[in-house]
Amino acid sequence: MDQRIIARQFHVKGIVQGVGFRPFVYQLARRHGLAGQVANTSAGVTIAVEGPAAAVTAFEHDLSTQAPPLAVITAVETQDLDPEGLQGFDIVTSKVHNLRATLISPDVCVCADCLAELFNPADRRYRYPFINCTNCGPRYTIIEDVPYDRPKTSMRRFAMCPACQAEYDDPANRRFHAQPNACPVCGPQVALWDADGRPVDSTDPIGRAAALLEQGDVVAIKGLGGFHLAVDATNPQAVARLRTRKLREEKPLALMAAGLEQIGAFARFDKNEQALLLSVQRPIVLLAKRQPNPIAVAVAPANPYFGVMLPYTPLHYLLLDHGFAALVMTSANRSDEPICIDNAEALERLADIADGYLVHDRDIYLRSDDSIIRHLDEAPRFVRRSRGYVPVPVFLQKPLPPVLACGAELKNTVCLTRKDQAFVSQHIGDLENLAALDFFKMTIAHLRRILDIRPEAAACDLHPDYLSTVWARQQSDLPVVGVQHHHAHMAACMGEHHLEGPVIGLCLDGTGLGSDGAVWGGEVLVGDFSGFDRAGHLAYTPLPGAAAAIKQPWRMALAHLIGAFGQGWADLDLPLRQHVEAGKLAFVARMVAQRVNCPPTSSLGRLFDAVAAICGLRQSVSFEGQAAMELEMVAAAGKARPYRFDLDESSGVHRILPGSIVAALVGDLLAGTPVAEVSARFHATVIAAFGTVAVKVGRERGLNTVVLSGGAFQNAILLTGLTRFLRDRGLDVFSHTKVPCNDGGLSLGQALVAAARV
Ligand code: ZN
Ligand code: ZN
Ligand code: FE
Repeated sequence: MDQRIIARQFHVKGIVQGVGFRPFVYQLARRHGLAGQVANTSAGVTIAVEGPAAAVTAFEHDLSTQAPPLAVITAVETQDLDPEGLQGFDIVTSKVHNLRATLISPDVCVCADCLAELFNPADRRYRYPFINCTNCGPRYTIIEDVPYDRPKTSMRRFAMCPACQAEYDDPANRRFHAQPNACPVCGPQVALWDADGRPVDSTDPIGRAAALLEQGDVVAIKGLGGFHLAVDATNPQAVARLRTRKLREEKPLALMAAGLEQIGAFARFDKNEQALLLSVQRPIVLLAKRQPNPIAVAVAPANPYFGVMLPYTPLHYLLLDHGFAALVMTSANRSDEPICIDNAEALERLADIADGYLVHDRDIYLRSDDSIIRHLDEAPRFVRRSRGYVPVPVFLQKPLPPVLACGAELKNTVCLTRKDQAFVSQHIGDLENLAALDFFKMTIAHLRRILDIRPEAAACDLHPDYLSTVWARQQSDLPVVGVQHHHAHMAACMGEHHLEGPVIGLCLDGTGLGSDGAVWGGEVLVGDFSGFDRAGHLAYTPLPGAAAAIKQPWRMALAHLIGAFGQGWADLDLPLRQHVEAGKLAFVARMVAQRVNCPPTSSLGRLFDAVAAICGLRQSVSFEGQAAMELEMVAAAGKARPYRFDLDESSGVHRILPGSIVAALVGDLLAGTPVAEVSARFHATVIAAFGTVAVKVGRERGLNTVVLSGGAFQNAILLTGLTRFLRDRGLDVFSHTKVPCNDGGLSLGQALVAAARV
């Protein structure tokens, strides 16, 4: 054993603040009999130890192998120092450095230790809704600045009582330096307000709120990243009331149930889905419905899935302890505005929606919606990446110049890069209203501050009317890089998988502006981060009325029927004719014939809409992608035979002609084939057509790698089918698991393209 006295310093980087790292270091140093100190810095955690060389070596080993569960260590830099004869081991108060390279922890669900105390009548925090420790509790949503210390969080206004302070100061305690530490004596409190915001006098506000829910009321509940609107999910009148008031006509509503056993009564889950439900991020997990089930039909109409989550705050556990089979817990907003976070804001914005408000006085600094995830084709797939995951970066293959990417118009997120890390923001939403635009600007300012990133360029979509594009172009201090929508999708998937390219990018999507001014969305691209060319696509069809065609799939159906049958469409005996007035059909048919307000589109999402309308499933939608989703949901399981499809390769670009596909499926429908089978065959055709083009392009260009991106890959049949088709033909296939395949992941790709061009 080497007993020489040596001294060594460690700079630890990664997610090492707010995760119990300093207490861990303290106890580790004591165990190895080392003197020294540990401190949070803006760059991470710095440790200096002094003692026998063998002990220092053992300490160094344990530092990375035994780190606390929430810590993520990305680098440890060591440096030898001269021994100074130090005595004891100290945790010193934070130092502020210029480089704010530290990573902030996301919010974490209440841990098992805290939960046990919560329901222990002998504990001083018995039923206290803000119980937490260094291993659990709020983080990202309460942090205003770094380093992560209580005065930089919304806990600063609560002075700890002597008992809490003693825990906070005791290195052997689970709450040692737990910044949000609190108890009923000194910490935040809950209160129940009536519909007008008047406090309801009660010693048990949570119990009273539960009683309101039991009688069918809509209650606004302040959570971790914002308010939820809650109703009893088994009460059809209550669910209907919530839908009417919230103007959310058909989008599925999320459910929260007390435990796995309760969830098992209305949904099915396998061990992968169970692991997602139980994970500390506590996302909403899409689970197949069990039939029959006690949940009101209006929770997720025309959808074989429920979005389900387990409780993640102590307050949720206390509320669900009142015996609900499940509660609807949906983001508190009107229609598609950002989620409410502030008590006064909630009263104003949720008036006419909520019958009561369960509030508390711990401020939410940064709003963050629940994340939504689905286990598909052997991996978790984000539908929305937000609370619990943000601000964990996507780690890149190599360091990049700092850029800010402004994201898409719908499902907006923004992304900032710092060295080999890309920080994709929480879900900001649809940038169609002023409130969302304010949230967008605030998120950019906040991320720039806490990450200390001074971007050298701003990336945005090519679409001049996206509010994110308009904002980027107003930033006079930054060069702006316009990035084609589907190039960004492709780059996002490359970045996730550390691919340098060139690759084949199979980008199947709703809509994005193309480099030629057309509306793209069924694209086979070839390229890398710096550029691309278009090797194939769905052939153009007129998009009648542009944006109106997205809301009314029957318009797109008509355009595709005219494409397939010319004037003969009018003689077809399709459900479309009963669902849509003849006058409207004739009007849109004229628009298509004369190409008035009919930009050409290669969108696959719109072809799905058209087929859904042709099959009589749905003629108008209340949210983007609804018709396409329903077409997927009705598809018969099992192997289906594709329809014939034609390719036009005369221009050197592989164009998939939708006309022959539409003609074939219409023939099938008219022959009386069930819609379930037509849908299955249509899916098989799309897989065969795009798969064939990708294989041809690979052969022509000598490429073997395909990335799958774009919102259409939320479709399980397409994702699994195309992955299998391409792998069977020897190609390497990559799809998204770290960011959503939809426009929520677009900012990551924009950032990577812009960084390659700066
Ligand atoms: Zn805990
Ligand atoms: Zn206290
Ligand atoms: Fe897109």
